[in-house]
Amino acid sequence: MNKDIATPIRTKEILNKYGFSFKKSLGQNFIIDPNILRNIVGHANLTEESGAIEIGPGIGALTEHIARAAKKVVAFEIDQRLLPVLDDTLSPYNNIKIIHSDVLKADVAKVIQEELQDVKDIMVVANLPYYVTTPILIKLLTENLPIKGLVVMMQKEVADRITANPGTKEYGSLSIAIQYYGKAEVVMSVPKTVFIPQPNVDSAVIRITKHQTPPVEVINEDFLFEVTRASFAQRRKTIFNNLQSGLYLGKENKHHIVEALESCGIDPSRRGETLTIQEFGQLADALYPMFN
Ligand code: SAM
Repeated sequence: MNKDIATPIRTKEILNKYGFSFKKSLGQNFIIDPNILRNIVGHANLTEESGAIEIGPGIGALTEHIARAAKKVVAFEIDQRLLPVLDDTLSPYNNIKIIHSDVLKADVAKVIQEELQDVKDIMVVANLPYYVTTPILIKLLTENLPIKGLVVMMQKEVADRITANPGTKEYGSLSIAIQYYGKAEVVMSVPKTVFIPQPNVDSAVIRITKHQTPPVEVINEDFLFEVTRASFAQRRKTIFNNLQSGLYLGKENKHHIVEALESCGIDPSRRGETLTIQEFGQLADALYPMFN
Protein backbone atom coordinates (compact mmCIF):
# COMPACT_ATOMS: atom_id res chain seq x y z
CA MET A 1 0.00 0.00 0.00
CA ASN A 2 1.17 3.54 -0.75
CA LYS A 3 2.39 5.86 1.99
CA ASP A 4 -0.51 7.98 3.32
CA ILE A 5 -0.78 11.54 2.03
CA ALA A 6 -2.28 12.62 5.35
CA THR A 7 0.70 12.06 7.65
CA PRO A 8 1.92 15.44 8.98
CA ILE A 9 5.37 14.94 7.38
CA ARG A 10 4.11 13.96 3.93
CA THR A 11 1.48 16.74 3.91
CA LYS A 12 4.15 19.35 4.72
CA GLU A 13 6.43 17.91 2.01
CA ILE A 14 3.63 18.21 -0.56
CA LEU A 15 2.66 21.74 0.52
CA ASN A 16 6.33 22.86 0.37
CA LYS A 17 6.97 21.21 -2.99
CA TYR A 18 4.13 23.21 -4.57
CA GLY A 19 4.53 26.38 -2.44
CA PHE A 20 0.85 25.99 -1.55
CA SER A 21 -0.77 28.70 0.58
CA PHE A 22 -4.15 27.99 2.19
CA LYS A 23 -7.16 30.06 1.17
CA LYS A 24 -9.38 30.62 4.18
CA SER A 25 -12.14 31.86 1.86
CA LEU A 26 -12.31 28.34 0.31
CA GLY A 27 -12.54 26.60 3.69
CA GLN A 28 -9.14 24.96 3.22
CA ASN A 29 -8.32 22.99 6.36
CA PHE A 30 -6.63 19.71 5.47
CA ILE A 31 -6.62 16.57 7.62
CA ILE A 32 -3.27 15.31 8.84
CA ASP A 33 -4.35 12.12 10.62
CA PRO A 34 -4.82 8.93 8.54
CA ASN A 35 -6.79 7.25 11.36
CA ILE A 36 -9.53 9.88 11.17
CA LEU A 37 -9.75 9.35 7.41
CA ARG A 38 -9.96 5.56 7.81
CA ASN A 39 -12.78 6.01 10.31
CA ILE A 40 -14.70 8.42 8.07
CA VAL A 41 -14.51 5.99 5.15
CA GLY A 42 -15.49 3.11 7.47
CA HIS A 43 -18.77 4.87 8.25
CA ALA A 44 -19.65 4.96 4.53
CA ASN A 45 -19.76 1.13 4.26
CA LEU A 46 -18.26 1.17 0.76
CA THR A 47 -17.62 -2.05 -1.17
CA GLU A 48 -15.52 -2.85 -4.22
CA GLU A 49 -18.66 -2.23 -6.25
CA SER A 50 -19.46 1.19 -4.79
CA GLY A 51 -19.07 4.58 -6.38
CA ALA A 52 -18.23 7.67 -4.32
CA ILE A 53 -18.49 11.41 -4.78
CA GLU A 54 -16.12 13.67 -2.87
CA ILE A 55 -16.42 17.45 -2.53
CA GLY A 56 -13.11 19.27 -2.12
CA PRO A 57 -10.29 16.69 -2.32
CA GLY A 58 -7.63 19.25 -1.30
CA ILE A 59 -4.31 17.41 -1.76
CA GLY A 60 -6.07 14.04 -1.92
CA ALA A 61 -5.80 12.94 1.73
CA LEU A 62 -9.33 11.56 2.02
CA THR A 63 -9.61 10.78 -1.69
CA GLU A 64 -7.01 8.02 -1.54
CA HIS A 65 -8.72 6.35 1.43
CA ILE A 66 -12.00 6.35 -0.48
CA ALA A 67 -10.24 5.03 -3.61
CA ARG A 68 -8.84 2.08 -1.62
CA ALA A 69 -12.37 1.09 -0.51
CA ALA A 70 -14.53 1.88 -3.56
CA LYS A 71 -14.66 0.99 -7.23
CA LYS A 72 -14.48 4.61 -8.37
CA VAL A 73 -14.26 8.11 -6.87
CA VAL A 74 -15.34 11.33 -8.55
CA ALA A 75 -14.09 14.45 -6.75
CA PHE A 76 -15.10 18.09 -7.35
CA GLU A 77 -12.37 20.64 -6.56
CA ILE A 78 -12.85 24.40 -7.08
CA ASP A 79 -9.21 25.49 -6.59
CA GLN A 80 -7.25 25.25 -9.82
CA ARG A 81 -3.92 25.39 -7.92
CA LEU A 82 -4.69 21.94 -6.49
CA LEU A 83 -5.06 20.19 -9.86
CA PRO A 84 -1.32 19.58 -10.51
CA VAL A 85 -0.91 18.56 -6.86
CA LEU A 86 -3.70 15.98 -7.12
CA ASP A 87 -2.29 14.71 -10.41
CA ASP A 88 0.92 13.99 -8.57
CA THR A 89 -0.31 12.71 -5.18
CA LEU A 90 -3.05 10.48 -6.60
CA SER A 91 -0.98 9.06 -9.48
CA PRO A 92 -0.81 5.58 -7.85
CA TYR A 93 -4.60 5.22 -8.22
CA ASN A 94 -6.46 4.54 -11.47
CA ASN A 95 -10.00 4.81 -10.11
CA ILE A 96 -10.19 8.55 -9.37
CA LYS A 97 -11.65 11.28 -11.57
CA ILE A 98 -11.03 14.90 -10.51
CA ILE A 99 -13.48 17.49 -11.83
CA HIS A 100 -12.38 21.11 -11.66
CA SER A 101 -15.63 22.81 -10.69
CA ASP A 102 -17.56 24.60 -8.01
CA VAL A 103 -19.82 21.75 -6.89
CA LEU A 104 -22.68 24.21 -6.40
CA LYS A 105 -22.61 25.00 -10.11
CA ALA A 106 -21.93 21.46 -11.34
CA ASP A 107 -24.43 19.22 -13.09
CA VAL A 108 -23.95 16.37 -10.63
CA ALA A 109 -26.64 14.17 -12.20
CA LYS A 110 -24.82 14.30 -15.55
CA VAL A 111 -21.46 13.57 -13.92
CA ILE A 112 -22.98 10.52 -12.20
CA GLN A 113 -24.43 9.34 -15.50
CA GLU A 114 -21.10 9.72 -17.28
CA GLU A 115 -18.65 8.58 -14.59
CA LEU A 116 -20.51 6.25 -12.24
CA GLN A 117 -22.72 4.21 -14.54
CA ASP A 118 -21.36 0.78 -13.59
CA VAL A 119 -21.38 0.94 -9.78
CA LYS A 120 -23.86 -0.76 -7.47
CA ASP A 121 -24.45 2.15 -5.09
CA ILE A 122 -23.18 5.70 -4.62
CA MET A 123 -22.16 7.48 -1.40
CA VAL A 124 -21.00 11.07 -0.92
CA VAL A 125 -17.93 11.11 1.33
CA ALA A 126 -16.30 14.45 2.13
CA ASN A 127 -14.64 16.83 4.52
CA LEU A 128 -16.79 19.75 3.41
CA PRO A 129 -15.70 23.35 2.93
CA TYR A 130 -17.50 24.72 6.02
CA TYR A 131 -18.55 28.07 4.46
CA VAL A 132 -20.92 26.24 2.07
CA THR A 133 -21.97 23.18 4.12
CA THR A 134 -25.70 23.85 4.01
CA PRO A 135 -26.02 24.81 0.30
CA ILE A 136 -24.01 21.70 -0.67
CA LEU A 137 -26.19 19.37 1.42
CA ILE A 138 -29.42 20.95 0.19
CA LYS A 139 -28.25 20.69 -3.44
CA LEU A 140 -27.23 17.04 -3.12
CA LEU A 141 -30.45 16.08 -1.32
CA THR A 142 -32.98 18.02 -3.40
CA GLU A 143 -31.66 17.19 -6.88
CA ASN A 144 -33.07 13.68 -6.66
CA LEU A 145 -29.67 12.10 -7.34
CA PRO A 146 -29.22 8.31 -7.28
CA ILE A 147 -27.15 8.40 -4.06
CA LYS A 148 -27.63 6.11 -1.08
CA GLY A 149 -26.37 8.54 1.51
CA LEU A 150 -23.68 10.91 2.71
CA VAL A 151 -20.86 10.72 5.26
CA VAL A 152 -19.62 14.26 5.68
CA MET A 153 -17.52 16.30 8.08
CA MET A 154 -18.66 19.78 9.07
CA GLN A 155 -18.63 22.28 11.90
CA LYS A 156 -19.90 20.51 15.05
CA GLU A 157 -22.52 23.17 15.73
CA VAL A 158 -24.07 22.62 12.28
CA ALA A 159 -23.93 18.81 12.73
CA ASP A 160 -25.81 19.19 16.03
CA ARG A 161 -28.51 21.32 14.39
CA ILE A 162 -28.94 18.93 11.46
CA THR A 163 -29.33 15.86 13.68
CA ALA A 164 -31.40 17.51 16.45
CA ASN A 165 -34.67 16.09 17.78
CA PRO A 166 -37.84 18.09 18.58
CA GLY A 167 -37.80 19.78 21.97
CA THR A 168 -34.06 20.58 21.93
CA LYS A 169 -32.54 24.02 21.46
CA GLU A 170 -30.63 22.87 18.35
CA TYR A 171 -33.83 21.74 16.58
CA GLY A 172 -34.91 24.10 13.82
CA SER A 173 -35.70 24.53 10.13
CA LEU A 174 -32.30 23.07 9.13
CA SER A 175 -33.04 19.84 11.08
CA ILE A 176 -36.31 19.50 9.18
CA ALA A 177 -34.84 20.47 5.78
CA ILE A 178 -32.31 17.61 6.06
CA GLN A 179 -34.32 15.01 8.02
CA TYR A 180 -37.09 15.24 5.44
CA TYR A 181 -34.65 13.61 2.98
CA GLY A 182 -32.80 11.21 5.25
CA LYS A 183 -32.01 9.81 8.68
CA ALA A 184 -29.20 11.97 10.06
CA GLU A 185 -26.82 10.92 12.87
CA VAL A 186 -23.51 12.15 14.27
CA VAL A 187 -21.00 9.31 13.89
CA MET A 188 -17.73 10.97 14.95
CA SER A 189 -16.44 14.00 16.84
CA VAL A 190 -13.21 15.39 15.45
CA PRO A 191 -10.76 17.60 17.37
CA LYS A 192 -9.24 20.77 15.86
CA THR A 193 -5.74 19.31 16.26
CA VAL A 194 -6.03 16.94 13.28
CA PHE A 195 -6.21 19.80 10.76
CA ILE A 196 -3.68 22.05 9.12
CA PRO A 197 -4.28 24.96 9.56
CA GLN A 198 -6.36 24.37 12.71
CA PRO A 199 -9.90 25.75 12.37
CA ASN A 200 -11.47 27.90 15.12
CA VAL A 201 -14.38 25.49 15.53
CA ASP A 202 -14.86 21.86 16.56
CA SER A 203 -15.89 19.38 13.88
CA ALA A 204 -18.12 16.33 13.58
CA VAL A 205 -18.91 13.73 10.95
CA ILE A 206 -22.54 12.96 10.20
CA ARG A 207 -24.09 10.16 8.21
CA ILE A 208 -27.29 10.84 6.28
CA THR A 209 -29.06 7.72 5.02
CA LYS A 210 -31.60 8.76 2.39
CA HIS A 211 -35.23 7.79 2.98
CA GLN A 212 -36.93 5.58 0.37
CA THR A 213 -40.10 7.58 1.00
CA PRO A 214 -40.29 10.88 2.92
CA PRO A 215 -41.35 10.70 6.60
CA VAL A 216 -44.46 12.72 5.75
CA GLU A 217 -46.35 13.13 2.47
CA VAL A 218 -47.07 16.79 1.63
CA ILE A 219 -48.84 18.62 -1.21
CA ASN A 220 -45.86 20.90 -1.82
CA GLU A 221 -42.34 20.42 -0.38
CA ASP A 222 -41.30 24.06 -0.86
CA PHE A 223 -44.32 25.19 1.08
CA LEU A 224 -43.47 22.77 3.93
CA PHE A 225 -40.03 24.41 4.20
CA GLU A 226 -41.58 27.90 4.02
CA VAL A 227 -43.89 27.03 6.92
CA THR A 228 -41.03 25.58 9.00
CA ARG A 229 -38.79 28.62 8.38
CA ALA A 230 -41.62 30.94 9.42
CA SER A 231 -42.33 28.82 12.51
CA PHE A 232 -38.76 29.19 13.81
CA ALA A 233 -38.26 32.87 12.81
CA GLN A 234 -38.36 33.98 16.45
CA ARG A 235 -37.77 31.05 18.73
CA ARG A 236 -39.43 32.58 21.78
CA LYS A 237 -42.67 33.33 19.96
CA THR A 238 -45.56 30.86 19.72
CA ILE A 239 -46.14 29.01 16.48
CA PHE A 240 -49.27 31.09 15.92
CA ASN A 241 -47.42 34.43 16.25
CA ASN A 242 -44.57 33.27 14.03
CA LEU A 243 -46.94 32.04 11.31
CA GLN A 244 -49.00 35.21 11.48
CA SER A 245 -45.99 37.45 10.95
CA GLY A 246 -44.12 35.12 8.60
CA LEU A 247 -46.76 33.95 6.14
CA TYR A 248 -48.13 37.36 5.03
CA LEU A 249 -51.79 36.40 5.24
CA GLY A 250 -52.97 39.71 6.67
CA LYS A 251 -54.61 40.28 10.05
CA GLU A 252 -58.10 39.56 8.71
CA ASN A 253 -57.01 35.96 8.04
CA LYS A 254 -55.77 35.31 11.56
CA HIS A 255 -58.63 32.92 12.21
CA HIS A 256 -57.55 30.75 9.23
CA ILE A 257 -54.20 30.10 10.90
CA VAL A 258 -55.89 29.20 14.16
CA GLU A 259 -58.29 26.90 12.28
CA ALA A 260 -55.43 25.21 10.43
CA LEU A 261 -53.52 24.65 13.68
CA GLU A 262 -56.58 23.31 15.45
CA SER A 263 -57.53 21.03 12.55
CA CYS A 264 -54.14 19.36 13.06
CA GLY A 265 -54.56 19.17 16.85
CA ILE A 266 -51.73 21.68 17.40
CA ASP A 267 -52.21 24.13 20.26
CA PRO A 268 -51.53 27.64 18.82
CA SER A 269 -49.56 28.52 21.96
CA ARG A 270 -46.91 25.82 21.32
CA ARG A 271 -43.47 26.81 20.08
CA GLY A 272 -42.15 25.62 16.71
CA GLU A 273 -39.37 23.63 18.36
CA THR A 274 -41.91 21.21 19.89
CA LEU A 275 -43.42 20.13 16.53
CA THR A 276 -42.36 16.92 14.81
CA ILE A 277 -41.75 16.79 11.07
CA GLN A 278 -45.07 14.92 10.71
CA GLU A 279 -46.91 17.74 12.50
CA PHE A 280 -45.22 20.34 10.26
CA GLY A 281 -46.30 18.29 7.24
CA GLN A 282 -49.96 18.19 8.36
CA LEU A 283 -49.86 21.89 9.16
CA ALA A 284 -48.35 22.82 5.78
CA ASP A 285 -51.11 20.87 4.00
CA ALA A 286 -53.81 22.53 6.14
CA LEU A 287 -52.43 26.01 5.36
CA TYR A 288 -51.72 25.33 1.69
CA PRO A 289 -55.24 26.08 0.30
CA MET A 290 -55.07 29.61 1.76
CA PHE A 291 -52.14 30.42 -0.50
CA ASN A 292 -53.27 28.75 -3.69
N1 SAM B 1 -10.49 16.69 1.54
C1 SAM B 1 -9.37 17.46 2.05
C2 SAM B 1 -9.03 16.99 3.45
O1 SAM B 1 -9.91 16.41 4.09
O2 SAM B 1 -7.92 17.21 3.90
C3 SAM B 1 -9.66 18.96 2.02
C4 SAM B 1 -10.92 19.43 2.70
S1 SAM B 1 -11.05 21.17 2.86
C5 SAM B 1 -12.00 21.28 4.36
C6 SAM B 1 -12.26 21.68 1.68
C7 SAM B 1 -11.87 21.57 0.20
O3 SAM B 1 -12.98 21.99 -0.60
C8 SAM B 1 -10.69 22.43 -0.26
O4 SAM B 1 -9.85 21.66 -1.06
C9 SAM B 1 -11.35 23.55 -1.09
O5 SAM B 1 -10.51 24.08 -2.09
C10 SAM B 1 -12.55 22.82 -1.67
N2 SAM B 1 -13.70 23.67 -2.03
C11 SAM B 1 -14.12 24.82 -1.44
N3 SAM B 1 -15.25 25.27 -2.00
C12 SAM B 1 -15.60 24.38 -2.97
C13 SAM B 1 -16.68 24.30 -3.90
N4 SAM B 1 -17.65 25.23 -3.92
N5 SAM B 1 -16.71 23.26 -4.78
C14 SAM B 1 -15.74 22.31 -4.76
N6 SAM B 1 -14.69 22.34 -3.88
C15 SAM B 1 -14.62 23.35 -3.00
